[in-house]
Amino acid sequence: MTDAATPARPAAVPNDLGAWWLPFTPNRAFKKNPRMLARAKGMFYYTPEGHEILDGSAGLWCCNAGHCREPIVAAIAAQAASLDFAPSFQFGHPMAFQLATRIADLAPADLDHVFFVNSGSESVDTALKIALAYHHARGEAGRTRLIGRARGYHGVGFGGISVGGISGNRKHFGPMLPGVDHLPTTYDREKQAFSRGEPDWGGHLADTLEDIVALHDSSTIAAVIVEPMAGSTGVLAPPKNYLARLRAICDKYGILLIFDEVITGFGRLGAAFAAERFGIVPDMITFAKGVTSGTVPLGGVIVREPVHAAFMKGPDHVAEFMHGYTYSAHPLACAAGLATLDLYAQEKLFARAAQLESTIADAFHALRGLPNVLDIRTIGLVAAIDLAPEAGGVGCRGLAALDHAFHQQNLLFRITGDTIAVSPPLIVSKEQIGAIADKVARAIRAVA
Ligand code: PLP
Repeated sequence: MTDAATPARPAAVPNDLGAWWLPFTPNRAFKKNPRMLARAKGMFYYTPEGHEILDGSAGLWCCNAGHCREPIVAAIAAQAASLDFAPSFQFGHPMAFQLATRIADLAPADLDHVFFVNSGSESVDTALKIALAYHHARGEAGRTRLIGRARGYHGVGFGGISVGGISGNRKHFGPMLPGVDHLPTTYDREKQAFSRGEPDWGGHLADTLEDIVALHDSSTIAAVIVEPMAGSTGVLAPPKNYLARLRAICDKYGILLIFDEVITGFGRLGAAFAAERFGIVPDMITFAKGVTSGTVPLGGVIVREPVHAAFMKGPDHVAEFMHGYTYSAHPLACAAGLATLDLYAQEKLFARAAQLESTIADAFHALRGLPNVLDIRTIGLVAAIDLAPEAGGVGCRGLAALDHAFHQQNLLFRITGDTIAVSPPLIVSKEQIGAIADKVARAIRAVA
């Protein structure tokens, strides 16, 4: 406990690490040898001791514009001083409308309406609820079944873990939502190992949706949700034609298609959204992370015109969608979002990611042949390396690599089990991509 008289302790490391229970972290191991981040600027984090850490993962796939960029910092500061909070139930503020328009303009086709939330998990649960309520509004209330995919990650809400396909995130949490099915994963190492971009093999796996339809009947199915590129499960690019086939089957049966673009949104694959890169128009796009370059929590769902229109009926005085969060469209988040989108446009950062795709692919595919490397996958400004698990258990080698990279190589990257994922801010230079790959190589050798 502190009191008002306690002086601020800017970058001092606290003596007591007991109280904070860290998310998705082995807390006891972490607290024995913490990886502390005290400041950030541009491509770098700084530890409390002042070590400069190259950011190989844009924080947590968020900070696409790099860290502490002046225009975003200034916009947040100005907003905090002028409108700290505004309720978004029954009231609005100008920046929320401006930001919604800007996001809709970035999204393809008639994805024209934006519902704001505060995180990726909330965006997923919101999209699932929109899907159910959409069918209800159209008189097809029997369409309640939701389809996810094995190895999918859609955050940690009960909706998200139900359609998600990572058993570790589900198994301790009791019954999931009823009426959920899963498509098979698109990944098969034997057929796809060491692919650049979209693997050649696997497009036909979209046809398994036909089997689910045959089993349950299309009149029971509300929506399919997939990450166009699965990120958190280890960077799985969609096989060629997979998304197009999924779109076609959804169209055939009146099933909504939701792209979870929490990671792929805002430039990660060299376009504003993966939908644009792959030329597929989903019915909804979920987003978060990059919309504010990670500075203030913000997420949302972008909805196609006909889906939105189905709600805009009934008496004028009745709310069309009984859902929302106190902090939906928070003024600080909207200010950060507008400044971030300006920066992306001014610095052409989405195009920059596209231009760097071959650089990161060359740098990482060159690591093939290092000890324990089972697969390397690259797409957009993303690279992943699967390491063989240690006898001690899945995840031990990955965690050791993360730890070595941070403490010995001054590099931060992301791990999922024994998969290393690299997704630097879009401002990364070619030299820095080379440096990240060198440091990753050293980490891989160190844990051999
Ligand atoms: N959906 C996808 C595809 C994600 O990658 C993530 C987080 O990484 C989420 C949802 C959840 O986002 P959040 O952690 O902001 O709730």
